[in-house]
Amino acid sequence: MFIKRFFKGGANVPHHKNTANCETVKMGVPEKVVIPMLQHIGAPCEPCVKKGDTVKVGQIIGDSDKFISAPIHSSVSGTVVDVAPMLQSGGFYVPAVEIKTDGKQEIYEGIKPPEYSNSKEFIEAIRRSGLVGLGGAGFPAHVKLSLPPNKRVDTLIINGAECEPYITSDYREIIENSWNVISGINIIMEILNINNVIIGIEDNKPEAIEVMERIDKSSDKISVVKLKSRYPQGAEKMLIYAITRRKVPAGGLPADVGVIVMNVNSVSFISEYVKNGMPLIKKRVTVDGPSVKNPGNVEVLIGTPISQVFDFCGGFSVPPKKVLMGGPMMGIAQSSMDLPVVKHTNALLALDEKSAKLPESGACIRCGRCIRACPMNLLPLNLYNNAIRDNIDELKKHHVNDCIECGCCSYVCPAKINLVQSLRLGKAKVKQAAMAKGGK
Ligand code: SF4
Ligand code: SF4
Repeated sequence: MFIKRFFKGGANVPHHKNTANCETVKMGVPEKVVIPMLQHIGAPCEPCVKKGDTVKVGQIIGDSDKFISAPIHSSVSGTVVDVAPMLQSGGFYVPAVEIKTDGKQEIYEGIKPPEYSNSKEFIEAIRRSGLVGLGGAGFPAHVKLSLPPNKRVDTLIINGAECEPYITSDYREIIENSWNVISGINIIMEILNINNVIIGIEDNKPEAIEVMERIDKSSDKISVVKLKSRYPQGAEKMLIYAITRRKVPAGGLPADVGVIVMNVNSVSFISEYVKNGMPLIKKRVTVDGPSVKNPGNVEVLIGTPISQVFDFCGGFSVPPKKVLMGGPMMGIAQSSMDLPVVKHTNALLALDEKSAKLPESGACIRCGRCIRACPMNLLPLNLYNNAIRDNIDELKKHHVNDCIECGCCSYVCPAKINLVQSLRLGKAKVKQAAMAKGGK
């Protein structure tokens, strides 16, 4: 089934899907990995190994007793050489486990396909797998699948929109592992008793739509929706609205409107995990940007330093001025090339001097484009003014926490005002103020 549907606002960004035809290439085992204890939305894990311990592939090295968290596993076999705080690109420290690899890649003895006979046991198995949303958000999958007793979900949306420029990781999964995607969908449908699955793919990926359309004929419960390409089509709330016309309330969850959204890579992982029991230890990463010599899609062990991923792609044709983890709209600039690939890394972009240069900001001309572009119906300029003045109450009153940091407001602003950057700070200030008052 092909339907063209849409959401409000957004921006027409260039696609730059240069690596769409680059088949995934496996990178080897690095000499060391550094695995941070926070690779998801939620509480960080506590390391459960210490310096000198030997570890194997798939062994748990960090866990948390908090519900919104996900265990972290070793991606290699080797020896723990350090457990120490590591500065993350967000400017905060988290403990990280550094492992010197032995090159043997011995599998941990406890690895076996999960056994489950009901949804509770399945969701617990998904927690043990360490799966978090692989589209870039990093929300723990077991939390997403744990529905409160008063909620009934009738629709599973599979997110294959991949609207950020450059990134082709989801696209390659559909092309290379389409049967895994369908198998993962069937597992979730059965265990959660969902009879309506919609795979949403933007119309700039006709091959992916064709592959999924061919397969969707195998079930009358699965359909494919062709979505008009427009950023940020892949954001959860935009996708739900574009496909179902249901609006997730402010501060609410997709389950509030009877929907679960999962990324194509996440459902594909579930299919593999159910077969072999290997937890999340690797990630497909799109490596691109004007500075990269040989752009491509690379399967990388989690914890591999990003410098080595670029080396694997031939290094740099021109020195990079800025390196982003993620796409150019929502990606985070990396403070060090020693930082590792983590669970939610879907792209590494190396920008040259020209593409990294931020234009100078001018005065606001009150054109209102930022308001029209905001898919969350916010007032970006108003929020910006309150963020730079530390007006916490006004930021809360105007729902700064609803900002999904998509960057559309900054992208369309003719005065090139740093709107999204200031809104990020504004959100952090609101959080800081709440913590100072003893909240969360
Ligand atoms: S205010 Fe936030 S959600 Fe709205 S366009 Fe700007 S970054 Fe996106
Ligand atoms: S888009 Fe830029 S110039 Fe236009 S109203 Fe918003 S902040 Fe002002």
